[in-house]
Amino acid sequence: MEPRVILTDADHALMNACDAVFPNATKNLCRWHISENIRRKFKGLYSKDTGTDFTYWWKVLYRSPTIQEYDNRRINMERHLIQDDRTCESFKPDDKVWQYIRKNWLYPYRHKFVAWWIDERRNYGETTTNRVESQHTNLKRYLNGSNNSLDTIARHILKMVNSQMKEIVKSFHESRSKVMEGHRQHVWLKKLINRVLTHALGLLVNEYELIHKMRDGGASCDHHLYSSSGLSCACRIEGYIVNDTCIPIKDVDPFWRRLNFDLAYPPNEEPDYEAGAPLGFPLMVSPAQVPAIEMFRSVIPGWAQPFVADIKNVRPDSNCGFRSIAVGLGIHEKHWSDIRRAMQNELETNEGWWRAMFSKEDERLYDWVHSSISYSNTVKPAPPSHWFSVPSHGHMAA
Ligand SMILES: [Zn+2]
Repeated sequence: MEPRVILTDADHALMNACDAVFPNATKNLCRWHISENIRRKFKGLYSKDTGTDFTYWWKVLYRSPTIQEYDNRRINMERHLIQDDRTCESFKPDDKVWQYIRKNWLYPYRHKFVAWWIDERRNYGETTTNRVESQHTNLKRYLNGSNNSLDTIARHILKMVNSQMKEIVKSFHESRSKVMEGHRQHVWLKKLINRVLTHALGLLVNEYELIHKMRDGGASCDHHLYSSSGLSCACRIEGYIVNDTCIPIKDVDPFWRRLNFDLAYPPNEEPDYEAGAPLGFPLMVSPAQVPAIEMFRSVIPGWAQPFVADIKNVRPDSNCGFRSIAVGLGIHEKHWSDIRRAMQNELETNEGWWRAMFSKEDERLYDWVHSSISYSNTVKPAPPSHWFSVPSHGHMAA
């Protein structure tokens, strides 16, 4: 039996040993240890309030669900902690502590503790070594002091392991026999009740509750529950509900199906889940999006699909490129002529920069782009010379 996830502190010898002995396990760093390490470096440099700020920003940073969020939050954190007036005198932009965080943690290890990276692979929600630490404390309690001989230590350890086994067996039994009221009301959970750990059902219900928030906020599923824990994420749950079906047991990672100390699944029944398998669109947050997904599925490459945040099919007239940008900016597509004007304005304001940029390709390109953007007739369709074209207009849109 091999562990699938290993969490350690940044002890290089331990990390190397884990790499050598368990090459296939996911190896992450304990967030608690990292935070403690930084907190110690901050001691004396920060007032109490700013210290609280640090904890807040740091947590927000390592929980970044996307790489864009990570970049934004890192910049925000730097601004709040370093350039903010509340920061104490000794903490300046060139401060060694911020450099320390970047150099020692963010740069080399972000992929081992920031959500966007670690949730790409199974970690079952474990982000700290706290469970081990608490067993360590537990063992100390059993040992009751340092005056133990080897055989009494062995006996105490056995006693502790047995008591822990009893706890686990009890939780297995509860998962197999009890039905929580909050789980019963979800028909789509029917096939999983008493067949997976109660904790997993709780995670699925939490995820289900996110669907409404996503819908209201116009957000899309980040698939984190699926990729990190092998449980259906919001878009998949939505799919089951829309199709009036239940989540099948095979769609739950074997980790959650283990309700006794036997094998979690017979050897010939391999799990369907595969870390790194294509995730598809994150977009089934409402049935209204299904036709758009079906229409564009074949033209959006598989690797790009998980990053698609929304699909809006604008009116296919001669201004559709500009309509798309309007929609992308969160305004109505009918404002396409405002987009044309804004792009024209940008071209004229920074003429020198754009001329230099376009002239790398063709000396005449600036003038061509400039004249192609100017079109404001809302009645007559724009001739092809005024259509949005990629990459020329695309550079500006980006
Ligand atoms: Zn999803």
